Amino acid sequence: MYSIDLSDKHGIVFGIANHRSIAWAIAQILHEAGAKLAIAYQNERVKNSVAKLVEDWEDTPLIECDVGDDFNVATTFDTVGDRFGSLDIMVHSIAFANRDDLGGPFLDTDREGFRLALDISAYSLLPIARYGAPLMERNGGSILTLTFQAANRVFPGYNVMGTAKAALENEVKQLASDLGQQNIRVNAISAGPLDTLSSRVISHYRDMKRIHAERSPMRRNITADEVAKAALFLCSDLSGGITGEILHVDTGYNIMGI
Ligand code: NAD
Repeated sequence: MYSIDLSDKHGIVFGIANHRSIAWAIAQILHEAGAKLAIAYQNERVKNSVAKLVEDWEDTPLIECDVGDDFNVATTFDTVGDRFGSLDIMVHSIAFANRDDLGGPFLDTDREGFRLALDISAYSLLPIARYGAPLMERNGGSILTLTFQAANRVFPGYNVMGTAKAALENEVKQLASDLGQQNIRVNAISAGPLDTLSSRVISHYRDMKRIHAERSPMRRNITADEVAKAALFLCSDLSGGITGEILHVDTGYNIMGI
């Protein structure tokens, strides 16, 4: 019999904005499995809702961290190091693009919108891995990020975020190669559409969700809980031999041709 017990693990979760956030579903399942978590939230705007979600969790540091500045990321890991001593799990569940760049022709994406989307949604995994990995050196660890199939195929409206996800997926592989000898694994979950703050601003999101349900082998959409369960697997020793992997949790939509 195998069970997933993370009671000897410490983790940090980036990307909770509210109860719909994929990061929140992941944080809950890691917490239920016994992991002690630090929660890194973006800014004052989301602070209260994040604090309310975890108000009953003991010994849970809440750390403000806008990942647009490497200094913030570095000091976040200083704080985590002081509190936990070491880390086993890091979850990066962050994306951002200007609303104007998530609709209309991709052709119209300007340089600043492109830079911003790639910086926050893709580059940010690097400083998190760079400053977090030293805390994983003793026992190894698992780094997880969230991607979408628009990394490989065109989803009208997803636009520059598809470019960001393509970069992110490549980073997963390069980081897995860099960190593998330290027994630090780096993986991504490619999730199907879920109703969150971020997805709602993508034009055609409703169509995308409907078409996933109509055409995926399982003929339905995924749930946040299904993403969280896959995350639990990738963050635990059960996936000990897996790194550089993009795991689809999308009721099989990605395998369909027509
Ligand atoms: P969400 O809006 O709940 O989460 C996005 C998070 O990114 C928020 O918590 C926000 O505060 C954070 N963020 C944005 N800019 C930041 C910054 N500068 N510094 C720190 N944090 C910042 O939406 P979500 O759908 O849970 O998104 C989480 C991840 O899942 C994203 O990478 C998204 O692309 C990915 N994803 C979502 C779906 C979906 O359909 N919802 C599908 C596949 C992948």
